[in-house]
Amino acid sequence: MTVEIVRIPVLSDNYVWLMHDAASGETVVIDPAVAEPVLEAAAKRGWRITQIWNTHWHPDHVGGNAEIKAATNCSISGPSAEAERIPTLDHKVAGGDQVKIGTIAADVIDVPAHTAGHIAYHLPSEKTVFVGDTLFAMGCGRLFEGTAEQMFDNMQRLAALPDETAVYCAHEYTLSNGRYALVAEPDNEHIVARMNAVEAARARGDATVPTSISLEKATNPFMRAKNAQELAERRAAKDSFQ
Ligand code: ZN
Ligand code: FE
Repeated sequence: MTVEIVRIPVLSDNYVWLMHDAASGETVVIDPAVAEPVLEAAAKRGWRITQIWNTHWHPDHVGGNAEIKAATNCSISGPSAEAERIPTLDHKVAGGDQVKIGTIAADVIDVPAHTAGHIAYHLPSEKTVFVGDTLFAMGCGRLFEGTAEQMFDNMQRLAALPDETAVYCAHEYTLSNGRYALVAEPDNEHIVARMNAVEAARARGDATVPTSISLEKATNPFMRAKNAQELAERRAAKDSFQ
């Protein structure tokens, strides 16, 4: 991996990601919920923010767009299907398009369901994918604007990425997701082992994201759902899980 990626925890459980490419001097912010901690994190490292990439329109993913753009004159890419809801967009992108940090390409992948136009950014050379609120550690996003069929397809598409791909999610939901995962698949030893590690990490105040495609294939009850019906049942059960 040639880029450097920094985690910025904001609000109650959001992660904003700051990605820097030393070769080009470019710095990209993924899903800035807010502006100030992001501007501070970049300034502290002497990085100039040149772009924002949004995965979907929810305020906790685009809330910092305008202020960061005003402060840095960066350009903003985001889902074309949600352009009316993200008025700060400069570049409307969709599945099959590419965006770049320096000379490094990110493939845009359509992952509708949490929102109708949700996209992910996959950087094959960096073995990195930014998934917003579609895939979480042991979880998936709620189906606000789409169907279980769509989310099932999303899970298959993401599971097809190389195993070693690092998965950057936009929230720290792992503990709550894992508690449900233990109920969904009580005989899955990989989930039991992971939960022990997750509980220890959270007790220390450590983050559990990024995760990886291989780890999610072994422990994520939504990525492991056999079909859309099973994903739908698991999503409904998790929605009401205490
Ligand atoms: Zn969201
Ligand atoms: Fe969110």
